Amino acid sequence: MADQFPQPGDDRGAAAGAARIVDGAGLDAVIRGLRGRGYRTVGPAVRDRAISLAEISGVADLPRGWHDSQSPGSYRLTRGTDREIFGWAVGADSVKRQLLPPREVVWRAGASDRLPREEGPAESVPLALVGVRPCEVAALRILDRVLGGGQVADPRYAARRQDLFVCTVECGSPASTCFCTSMGTGPGAESGFDLAITEILEDEEPRYLVRVGSDRGAMVLNEVESRPATPQDEAARQEVLDRAESQMGLRLVTDGLPELLERNLEHPRWDQVASRCLSCGNCTQVCPTCFCVSVEDTTDLGGTVERRRRWASCFEVGHSYIHGGPVRPTTRSRYRQWATHKLGTWHAQFGTSGCVGCGRCIAWCPVGIDLREEVSAIRAGDGLRAAGPRSGGG
Ligand code: SF4
Ligand code: SF4
Repeated sequence: MADQFPQPGDDRGAAAGAARIVDGAGLDAVIRGLRGRGYRTVGPAVRDRAISLAEISGVADLPRGWHDSQSPGSYRLTRGTDREIFGWAVGADSVKRQLLPPREVVWRAGASDRLPREEGPAESVPLALVGVRPCEVAALRILDRVLGGGQVADPRYAARRQDLFVCTVECGSPASTCFCTSMGTGPGAESGFDLAITEILEDEEPRYLVRVGSDRGAMVLNEVESRPATPQDEAARQEVLDRAESQMGLRLVTDGLPELLERNLEHPRWDQVASRCLSCGNCTQVCPTCFCVSVEDTTDLGGTVERRRRWASCFEVGHSYIHGGPVRPTTRSRYRQWATHKLGTWHAQFGTSGCVGCGRCIAWCPVGIDLREEVSAIRAGDGLRAAGPRSGGG
């Protein structure tokens, strides 16, 4: 279960005190303090014209002045001259890549080995994620449930997750593709972090309201020059969150969603979306909670055999291959599987939705399919179809 990991926000009662205010130099000191404690610090940085997660060593590496513009099928970064560091929503990259790499060697055996040698995670130093959004923290909790416990826990994920330090930054700049408020995962951070930061832009230089979520978060913050947050600072934080909420894009109505999808497996909208969907799998690759992997064995001329694990997608035709053929041979059946699992059957399997409302699958879908619109169309036709005949699946 998720609870096997240190859950930063869960010990807030012990660690949390009044919020503190730091300036840019203080934020820099937080990152440097984490590095001084032996963490590999990873945070937002501009890579390939998108916000990605990369190794950072201080505030200078963060995307100051960069802003994103996102809509279905579109993501653009623009550079301003302002001092805002966290003025963007999310890029394609997510925490998933840090804890479940897109490809890795699981075991290796040479010609003279009698048994294969297990390959552990390559990283031996603990990871600190700095500047990840609250929806990412929610995705982390979902991955913990899926990969971190139960009968099929993944030891590689668990090893990377064990000492993870989470410094989240609350969202003040949602994209039109974001719908975290619908999923209850943002724009504010409630738990699951060691430190939670809000960037406040009232003055020429931003200031940062920092809340503590764990004892180790408190230890890091205590080493940084700061002052207590005033009621004005707290009000300014609330304004950031209120503004973010008001800028959110389309909502996803979640009332009775698993049941809605279950009784609409033959809805004509699945045909309609299948006529646009390319089955490319982009949505699953960028989704921070899609966890499917496949393995492949390779042999080189020197006699070394490797088993490699890589991200897989339920949009691959072979993903559902059983006994001579795929169970889901059509794009219709594959899109329906993805959407109904993510928003419906995930609840029965893992106890929550599989979606955190980050909007990545919308922005990075090459044909601009919007999960919110698909669900809304199914909901709109729900009553009309309730008494109608059912046709064959596929
Ligand atoms: S389904 Fe889409 S919006 Fe939901 S978590 Fe995955 S990528 Fe984000
Ligand atoms: S919904 Fe979009 S991103 Fe996902 S498989 Fe279809 S075309 Fe690709």
